Amino acid sequence: MKKIIIIISSIFIITATIISFVVIRNNYSPNDKVKTIIIDNKNMVVGINYPITNIYKLNRTIKKNVNKIYKNFKNSYRKNNLKNNRSELNIDYKIYNLDNKYISIKLDVFEFINNKEKKQIITYFFDIKNNKFLLFNDIVSNKEFNKNIKTKYNIKNKPNNLFTISNSYLTIYIEEKEKYKSIKIPLENINFLFDIELGTDIKTKYKKVNAEKNVIDINDKIIALTFDDGPSKYTDEILNLLDKYNANATFFVLGNKVELYKETINKSIINGNEIGNHSYNHKWLIKLKKEEFLDQINKTQDIMKKTFDYTPKVLRPTYGSINSLIRENTNLRITLWNVDTLDWKYKNPKTIASRVIGHVKDGSIVLMHDTHKQTVKALEMILNDLSNEYKFVTVSELDEVNLLRKQLGAE
Ligand code: ZN
Repeated sequence: MKKIIIIISSIFIITATIISFVVIRNNYSPNDKVKTIIIDNKNMVVGINYPITNIYKLNRTIKKNVNKIYKNFKNSYRKNNLKNNRSELNIDYKIYNLDNKYISIKLDVFEFINNKEKKQIITYFFDIKNNKFLLFNDIVSNKEFNKNIKTKYNIKNKPNNLFTISNSYLTIYIEEKEKYKSIKIPLENINFLFDIELGTDIKTKYKKVNAEKNVIDINDKIIALTFDDGPSKYTDEILNLLDKYNANATFFVLGNKVELYKETINKSIINGNEIGNHSYNHKWLIKLKKEEFLDQINKTQDIMKKTFDYTPKVLRPTYGSINSLIRENTNLRITLWNVDTLDWKYKNPKTIASRVIGHVKDGSIVLMHDTHKQTVKALEMILNDLSNEYKFVTVSELDEVNLLRKQLGAE
C-alpha cells in the first residue's frame, strides 16, 4: 500500500512539475516545484527530491549536481556488486526564499552502500537579480567574520560555500571526519549581507525591465527572429516594435558599428534582446587564416565586453558559411536560420512578411537584416499577424527551451 501511494504521489508531482515548468527571464515568483525520482528495486532504493525554481541557471546547476551524485552512486553500487546489501541513495532539500531577492538551498545527500553510511551537504546561494551564485565571501566580509563570528562561535576558518540563510539564521556547516557540524547564528547578531546590500544593484549595468512579460512556458510556440549586419538607423524603430508586441529578438552585430550605435545597443540589451557576434567587419570568415578569423571574432567580443560588460554567446557566420576553421576555433554557439526573408532583395514589405507568415513553425529561426527600411514595415506585419500564436524569443532562449523539452521528453 505504501509503495502504491509513493508511486501515485510521485506521478502526481512529476506531472505537476512538467505542467508548470517555465522559464522566466530574470524574474522569480516563489512557487517552487519539486522534482522527485523514486526507484525501488531489489538491490537499490533511490529517493531523490530537489527543487525546481523558475530560474534556469539555478535549476541547471542543481540538476547537474544531482545527476552526478546519482551516477556515482550507481557506479559504486555496481562496482561493489552488493547483492545482499540493499543500497540507498536519498537526496532531500531545503529552500529559503529571501524576499524574492535571494534563494538559499541546501541539499542533504545520504548514501548507504556496502554497509557504510555517507552524508554530504551541498548548498547554493543565488542572487536572483544578477542571476548568479554567491559564495560566503560575497556575503560576509573578513572583518565582520573575525569580529563577530569567529571567536564567538568557535569557527577556525572562514567557510567557503557551505551555508544557508533563512529568515532568522545564518547557518554554517563544518565538515569534520565525514560528519557535519552546523552552527546557527541569529541574523540580528551580525552585520550579515552588508557587503551585498539587499535591494541595490551592484555590478550588473543593464537591468532588464518589464521582465514579467518575458515568461516563456515550454509549451509556448516560439520563434527566434534574428537581425544581421546592424545596428543601423532602422534598429531603434525595430526595437520599439518588438517592445510594443512584447517580443524579443537577437541582433548579430558587426563589431565596427558598436561604438557608433552605443545607445541603440544599450537599449536593445535593456529590453531583453540578445546581441550576437557577426564578425568585426563582415569578412567572409571561411576564407580567412586562423589568426584573421580570431581577430574578426575577438575584436567584436572585446568591444561588447568593454562597452557594455556584455559577452555575446552566439555567432552568426557571415553569409551563413561554415567550415572547420570556424567550428574548431570558437566557443560561441554557431547559429544559422531556417526561414530566410530575403529582405535585402525584396523591397515590398508584404512580400517579405509573407515569406515568414505561413512558413514558420514552432522553433523556427528567421533571418532578417536591421539595415533595410522595408524590414521595419515587414516586421510590423509579422508581429501583428503572429503575436497571438507565437512567443518571440532570443536564440539562446530558444536553445534553452529546446534543451528543457528534450530533457523532459527523455525522462
Ligand atoms: Zn551579414
